[in-house]
Amino acid sequence: LVVLDGVNKYFGQLHVLQDINLTVNQGEVVVVIGPSGSGKSTLCRAINRLETIKDGSISIDGKPLPSEGKELARLRADVGMVFQAFNLFAHKTILENITLGPIKVRRTPKRTAEARARELLDRVGVANQADKYPAQLSGGQQQRVAIARALAMEPKVILFDEPTSALDPEMVNEVLEVMVDLARQGMTMIVVTHEMGFARKAANRVIFMADGAIVEEADPDTFFTAPKSERAKDFLGKIL
Ligand code: ATP
Ligand code: MG
Repeated sequence: LVVLDGVNKYFGQLHVLQDINLTVNQGEVVVVIGPSGSGKSTLCRAINRLETIKDGSISIDGKPLPSEGKELARLRADVGMVFQAFNLFAHKTILENITLGPIKVRRTPKRTAEARARELLDRVGVANQADKYPAQLSGGQQQRVAIARALAMEPKVILFDEPTSALDPEMVNEVLEVMVDLARQGMTMIVVTHEMGFARKAANRVIFMADGAIVEEADPDTFFTAPKSERAKDFLGKIL
């Protein structure tokens, strides 16, 4: 579903993505881990074309990433993204935050979009917050709303970039549980996270990045119990 083939990216002299080859199949959950600065966010941003790449190719569902205009808007609709900072629109209600994309981009009629938004809010456990504003919700609730907002576009894949790392510890699990549910329901997901519990429960594969390259790739059990590379051993030694 998502195919990266020989992707390279530079920030000036810095080679932030080095010959990345990665295929994520339909329904697969891939966890990306690695030290700070290893290129995890850049990888996600490249897949959503928030960053351009120098060479190589990225395709979603067999189609190369478009560079602009309507095609790009469609790509963004197909590729959901949930960031560390929830990025909800502060001056719109929770319900409006969720219906905006479907109405504008998908041309969904308002009433249909609202009904669907309420279902999604129920699914992520914040059904009774629909008419509030983001600032009136806890961090965990806002992040669940951000997930509902991504789902409202009916994306083919959702990218998560450290979705729980800005949350108070007691709110981490409520967000991870929503993500585990999504994974079980067959959503294709690329998740940058250091949450081992999530990786073990939900990931089909763990990708370990260092210095812009994919250094190691394995199923979660193998990766966490028997990492092969020194870099991965060293990294796991620091976070476990
Ligand atoms: P973290 O775990 O801290 O989020 P990361 O793995 O997500 O790190 P990236 O944010 O992808 O890392 O950054 C990869 C490298 O690219 C880093 O060295 C970073 O400083 C650099 N970088 C990221 N964005 C830019 C930018 N817009 N301009 C220049 N350099 C950048
Ligand atoms: Mg990052």
